[in-house]
Amino acid sequence: MTTYPRPASGPRPPLRAGSHEPAPAVPRRGAGGRRLLVVLFLGGLVASVLPWWLDTPTGSLTGGIAMTTAAGQITGLVAGYLLLVQVLMMSRLPVLELWAGGERIARWHRDVAATLLVAVLAHTALILVGYAGLEGRSPLRQAGVMLREYQDMVSAFAAAGLLVLVGLVSVRAVRRVLPYELWHATHLAAYAVLLLGYAHQFSNGSQLFRPGPARTGWIALYVLVIAAWLWGRVIKPLRFNLRHRLRVSDLVTESPDAVSIYLTGVRLDRLELLGGQFFRWRFLTRGCWWQSHPFSVSAAGNDRWLRLTVKVVGRHTQDLRNLDPGVRVWAAGPSGTCTAAHRTRERALLIAAGSGITPLRAMLEELPPNAALIYRARTSADVLLREELDWLARNRGLRVWYVLGSRGDPGPRQVMTPDGIRQLVPDVARRDVYLCGPPGLVEQCRRVLRQAGVRRRQIHLATFEL
Ligand SMILES: Cc1cc2nc3c(=O)[nH]c(=O)nc-3n(C[C@H](O)[C@H](O)[C@H](O)COP(=O)(O)OP(=O)(O)OC[C@H]3O[C@@H](n4cnc5c(N)ncnc54)[C@H](O)[C@@H]3O)c2cc1C
Repeated sequence: MTTYPRPASGPRPPLRAGSHEPAPAVPRRGAGGRRLLVVLFLGGLVASVLPWWLDTPTGSLTGGIAMTTAAGQITGLVAGYLLLVQVLMMSRLPVLELWAGGERIARWHRDVAATLLVAVLAHTALILVGYAGLEGRSPLRQAGVMLREYQDMVSAFAAAGLLVLVGLVSVRAVRRVLPYELWHATHLAAYAVLLLGYAHQFSNGSQLFRPGPARTGWIALYVLVIAAWLWGRVIKPLRFNLRHRLRVSDLVTESPDAVSIYLTGVRLDRLELLGGQFFRWRFLTRGCWWQSHPFSVSAAGNDRWLRLTVKVVGRHTQDLRNLDPGVRVWAAGPSGTCTAAHRTRERALLIAAGSGITPLRAMLEELPPNAALIYRARTSADVLLREELDWLARNRGLRVWYVLGSRGDPGPRQVMTPDGIRQLVPDVARRDVYLCGPPGLVEQCRRVLRQAGVRRRQIHLATFEL
């Protein structure tokens, strides 16, 4: 009987992985849900401006002042709507996670954030200029009057200021130099924007001021978004963790700077998990409990254990090396759509760099046989889970190329070109390609693949960035 590579002292692998027979590939899920989300978002955007449209008599928009004020009102409604969309996207609502996945939602969240900031600044400036024109004052004096005399205006200005601050710390260059925890804490202030800006919309918003369908609909939207947030952020994780009660069971050193953490728990057979997905893990032990970090599972789900493989890059990952068996774990997830279920073709090419192998390793158990893997690493000591990959090559028809060396070395440089990839995998254009590694390398690979004729929807990205 074939023995499946496993830690000497760790939990046993799932029976399925020890079999000669390829496990059935997971069934495909189309991209229909994602498209529906985009349609709903655009529909909501149009609906958010509807109160203004219905409230504005034809022919009333005459002159620059009226137009400026109208533009201010429209941008205000759009900003209010986008703010709710932002909170909804961060709610981790299961349907969003299923249709779009955590990493894609994080990308959408970043894109919408920029539009939201522009809408808020435009709303503030246009309303000030419009009202100042009506009253015959300078915009600066108008701001003073509004702050003193208009109800809920101080909190509205505070909300706008806070949003600018959050926007500033989220600029890539700024975010990169800030410690993650500081960036995250500042980012959480965005929830205060929701609170501070709430009352102003009803006390000053011309379309929401009077009781009526627009006002009721807007309040209902708030209630729905807050309910979604509570469900995704509080109730769902609570249920998950009470149900599965995860604990660290074993640690296995994979390389000088990487460790696999095995977890056991209750009812793991009922866990709906796909290889390629990740959880946000909170290890409830001294020094670790207050932070949650995303790590992918590095083996497909089974009824006995979960595994994550962690590369040490900083303080928290260093601490994880010293976890004791028995430590309780709080997990939020699973999340992510870079999975075998989201493939568009039967065959797949996987390209991993460094610790980017972890989600792809888990997916390999769920993809149809005859997948191909290009694994970039600096040296052979940096290759993670090699025994398992070789086992999968022997037993699941996986073709593996370990491409060793630094980025500038001739070997890796030759492989990471359209011709280089086509030489290894001649039918690459007819495969799904899954990429996981540092953002720079993933982006470079994506360009090369497009040049090699791979269509955009066949390329699945995981950049370890949220
Ligand atoms: C979806 C996803 C899946 C991942 N899967 C794996 C995996 O399977 N194996 C693996 O080794 N690494 C994985 N990572 C990367 C891992 O999350 C970071 O390396 C880890 O959080 C670094 O923490 P640190 O304190 O040791 O290092 P730091 O030096 O503090 O952080 C290094 C970088 O990691 C990111 N980071 C830090 N803390 C967090 C946090 N709480 N949440 C999100 N990002 C953070 C930041 O970009 C930061 O610049 C994954 C990341 C994401 C987003």
